[in-house]
Amino acid sequence: MSYEFFPIGTASTPYPEKFSIPRQPGLVTSDQSYIELQGDANREEILRGLENFSHIWVVFVFHHAMRDNWKPMVRPPRLGGNEKVGVFASRSPFRPNPIGLSVLKLKGISSHQGRWRIHIEGADLLNGTPILDIKPYLPYADSLSNAQGGFATAAPERLPVIFSATAEPQLQKAAGDFIQLRQLIIDVLGQQPQPAYHSDKQKRQYGISLYTLNIRWQYSQMEQGFDTAAPGAFEPCIEVTEITQID
Ligand code: SAH
Repeated sequence: MSYEFFPIGTASTPYPEKFSIPRQPGLVTSDQSYIELQGDANREEILRGLENFSHIWVVFVFHHAMRDNWKPMVRPPRLGGNEKVGVFASRSPFRPNPIGLSVLKLKGISSHQGRWRIHIEGADLLNGTPILDIKPYLPYADSLSNAQGGFATAAPERLPVIFSATAEPQLQKAAGDFIQLRQLIIDVLGQQPQPAYHSDKQKRQYGISLYTLNIRWQYSQMEQGFDTAAPGAFEPCIEVTEITQID
């Protein structure tokens, strides 16, 4: 037996490609994201009462991870990409049914050219992700203070992000078109979005895209703040080297 579902909407997020997407919801909160309703679900009544909730559950299709040959064990990035766990013990997009689940902050509801939009914050969704369902987050049932986090007990470590002399004016120019762009780049890159299996990452040049921008970056060193260390001490960071428009 199989069951057929249709998308009730499509996500619009700053993430046009896989590498820029945060690995879980809520890790980046400077995104301008929304879900636009479509088809039979694009109606005002379907949303009535939703504005009284601060957060929603979003059920979606990992439409860019649709592979026939899913495997029962996967290598989560949190384990460095070399240790395996069962796919049901992971949040990997490659699953028997490629269905994703994210809890997201609800920022507001609007209508744009006849389409209802649910504005969200903290998306870990590819731009264009098909949405299957939306449900309110119920704190009394869904927030569990005694829960255990398996191999992922705390949010991943973040690195500071700096902008090179070339990138800084490019950022200021682009920031007119994209709200909170500086913070978005800091939030996304601080999580080191390169593949976990790169062993020579200190030497590499990386590139990710956000909205319609191409962001080039590399690992670097920065002088530590006066309050945290002796003058002249350095700490690892990420340096943005160039920001250009995607053609
Ligand atoms: N919170 C969700 C997703 C966790 S995995 C869940 O637990 O089900 C997050 C990763 O999913 C992102 O880093 C990105 O690589 C991937 N992803 C997001 N949207 C996707 C899509 N539409 N198709 C394929 N992969 C996607």
